Amino acid sequence: MLFRAVRPIPAAVLLLAFAACVTNPATGRREFSLMSEAQEVELGKQFDAEVRREMGLYEDAELQRYVSDIGLRLAKASERPHLPWSFAVVDEPAINAFALPGGYIYLTRGILPFLDNETQLAGVLGHEIGHVTARHAAQRYTQQTTAGLGVTLLSIFVPEARPLQGITETALGVMFLRHGREDELEADRLGVEYTASTGWDPAGVGGMLRTLARLDEADGQRRGVPNWLSTHPAPADRVQQVQAYIAKTGGAAGAGRGATDRVEFLRRVDGLVFGDSPRQGIIRGNTFLHPDLRLSIAFPQGWEIQNSASQVVASAPEANQHMILQLVPNPSGSIEQVARGSMAQAGFQHVDGQRAEVNGLDAYVGTYRGQMQNLGTVATLAAHIVHDRTVYILAGLAPTNQFSPAERQFADSIRSFRELSRQEAADVRPNRVDIYTVRQGDTWESIAKRTADGLLKPSTLAIMNNYEPNQAPRPGDRIKIVVEG
Ligand SMILES: [Zn+2]
Repeated sequence: MLFRAVRPIPAAVLLLAFAACVTNPATGRREFSLMSEAQEVELGKQFDAEVRREMGLYEDAELQRYVSDIGLRLAKASERPHLPWSFAVVDEPAINAFALPGGYIYLTRGILPFLDNETQLAGVLGHEIGHVTARHAAQRYTQQTTAGLGVTLLSIFVPEARPLQGITETALGVMFLRHGREDELEADRLGVEYTASTGWDPAGVGGMLRTLARLDEADGQRRGVPNWLSTHPAPADRVQQVQAYIAKTGGAAGAGRGATDRVEFLRRVDGLVFGDSPRQGIIRGNTFLHPDLRLSIAFPQGWEIQNSASQVVASAPEANQHMILQLVPNPSGSIEQVARGSMAQAGFQHVDGQRAEVNGLDAYVGTYRGQMQNLGTVATLAAHIVHDRTVYILAGLAPTNQFSPAERQFADSIRSFRELSRQEAADVRPNRVDIYTVRQGDTWESIAKRTADGLLKPSTLAIMNNYEPNQAPRPGDRIKIVVEG
């Protein structure tokens, strides 16, 4: 969680959209293109700055260089080697990879533990390079931008816009284009081509798709489901298609012929932060801790907590009751003025309220009424709390008929908002990837018990290590596990 305000995309971006007709070297198709290459690069550059600001790069220069070197090798073998290619690992726990027009490519740190070796990493990068060379995003950009322009701060009070997809609900979301099936297959094919022609085993593309397909099957719609996959069509189909491409590519480097570099890859991901990081805030049980912002909040027991770049949302398991933590942008005036002003701006009517003190922090706690998409008329108990010269809003909300049963829980959570001591902040450490050698008699269940706080299900552990969930771990195999920081 970075607590950045959501900004609409600058209108100037729209001016970039005018038409040109060119033959694309990667696809061989003559295409009606919405922007020139120079504009494509300009757009990528502009959004690259936003990605870096909103998500932040993962702090590990050696890992960044490793990924970048592989990406550049692949990109130089593509049809558009002259683009200003850039490859970065962003500090996001979700399993994701994405590309911006002009050659800006990102992996989340969350996808890395799910790759088995270097050729699978090359497979993901090759796929994303394929989207750029085939100009999929450049082709679709205008439509999506127009649709995305409605994103405003007000969407914080639309539970539908819960950060289930992480940052996709922010203004950045417009960049994560949903590619169509044809585009995905084409990017897979190009990924096979680029990996094969640079000397990696092209089976890496199929391997990483198979892992993501297993995750998809195992996790369904649960939290932690790979975003990357959910924006891509039928992974099992794609695995088959990729086998066919590989068979055709044959010659130069067929499956099993190129490099996989598993040992080197494992060395690079050893110690990688897994799940939330202190920089973004960490969820421990029902408590949200943010050591950088020095705050702690206990949400109601059993609620599901989602932490995204712009907000934290806790939701009751069965009911339409939610709590949202956000930052109030540019507050001015007294805390009461800030509270009433920001709620009015979000379309909420003040019912009552008072100045209050929450664990020694100045606050205004009020009840409000408003309309929300999918929930109809809602009531909310909202606290605006001043902490470290910043105003936080912590609000519980529910449709009016479900508000009373939750009101006490909302109030309890609000009362739990407190400053973390320096020592407490220092004690919050992230979980990390560790390498473990499978012993005789180990099962995924027994290995899962070694992982941090039962964080990983045995099946996830198997999938993360390129196994079918029902396949026993091989003694002597070096695998990734997750340990407490
Ligand atoms: Zn794709």
